[in-house]
Amino acid sequence: MFQKSTPPPSSSPAGGGGENENFFFPSPVYGGGQGGGIENKLMRTVNTHFPQHRPRRARSSEAMRRLFQETHVSKSQLIMPYFVREGRGVKEPILSMPGQFRFSSDALLREAESLQKAGVKALLLFGLTEDKDKKASKAFLKTGIVPKTVREVKKRFPELLVITDVCLCAYTSHGHCGLLNADGHIENDASLPVLAKTALSHAEAGADMVAPSDMMDGRVGAIRRMLDENGLKQTAILSYSAKYNSSFYGPFREAAHSAPVFAKKIPKDRKTYQMNPANRAEALREIELDIREGADMVMVKPALCYLDILREARDRFNFPLAAYLVSGEYAMIKAAAQKGWLDERAAVLETLTACMRAGANTVLTYHAKDIAGWLSN
Ligand SMILES: [Zn+2]
Repeated sequence: MFQKSTPPPSSSPAGGGGENENFFFPSPVYGGGQGGGIENKLMRTVNTHFPQHRPRRARSSEAMRRLFQETHVSKSQLIMPYFVREGRGVKEPILSMPGQFRFSSDALLREAESLQKAGVKALLLFGLTEDKDKKASKAFLKTGIVPKTVREVKKRFPELLVITDVCLCAYTSHGHCGLLNADGHIENDASLPVLAKTALSHAEAGADMVAPSDMMDGRVGAIRRMLDENGLKQTAILSYSAKYNSSFYGPFREAAHSAPVFAKKIPKDRKTYQMNPANRAEALREIELDIREGADMVMVKPALCYLDILREARDRFNFPLAAYLVSGEYAMIKAAAQKGWLDERAAVLETLTACMRAGANTVLTYHAKDIAGWLSN
């Protein structure tokens, strides 16, 4: 009944003979064995090694489980995103993201202090403005909300890593991430200098890292050149390399007031620049291009539907990799937890661990401060 598994190839590092060598080469699951479908093949592989191997031994106690744990998460891997807006003393709740707020820069300082106390060492800033126009001219204003907040945070908490989102959608009157021409097309090349100037304004204010999220072609190179030419060689670039056109960004658009405006000759979605969720090879190409253009870290966004992309990027490129658990991923867990349908802490830690297991070095998550508190206890 239990047939012996097909032996591994002779070139296998296990070498030698014996029944147990297949344990590390479970190829019969996928191709060995004779007929009977994948389930029967799996049974044969497993049973060949029973009772010598009992994986449950590694799960027999808390201490054993910890000793055998393959993936670990730590506070130093977290980046907490924040929304900043004009005003004073503002801490405005974001309805679609319970527990998240839009802060004025003075209120953000108090928040940054508690973030640092919790043990999170990096934050990402999204700027908001009511003063929008076709050219996104407030995006690169040196006195704009992002440079102003960067200066204040770095002055007060110099050791806190400040990363800034670089995009135009919060500053354009049409709500797109690049400039729009008269025919209603997003102008890739004309958007690059605007994005580069935006990054420069953040870097000059003291940002440690700038993070372009617009998905225009060539923007990482344009930003790198602009920073280098202005003596900001040490400012790093975290590129949103594989940013998918995802339904999970819904709550963010409410938070950042950045949804595309509904009008004639304005594209109703971001499908001409953000990636098709069905594509895998294209994500790897995007990542490779950004690495070649000078990115210091690349990102896959969102995280949970794209763990396969994270894993493949990890295997393909020996390069720092970030995953972004986006607003919709945050809101799903929050909503279910509020109804008592999920244990928020357990669900969040599981999703975070999944990102790390898939290959991320760093995770951006609105739960970062909560996680830091949970990891301390
Ligand atoms: Zn954008």
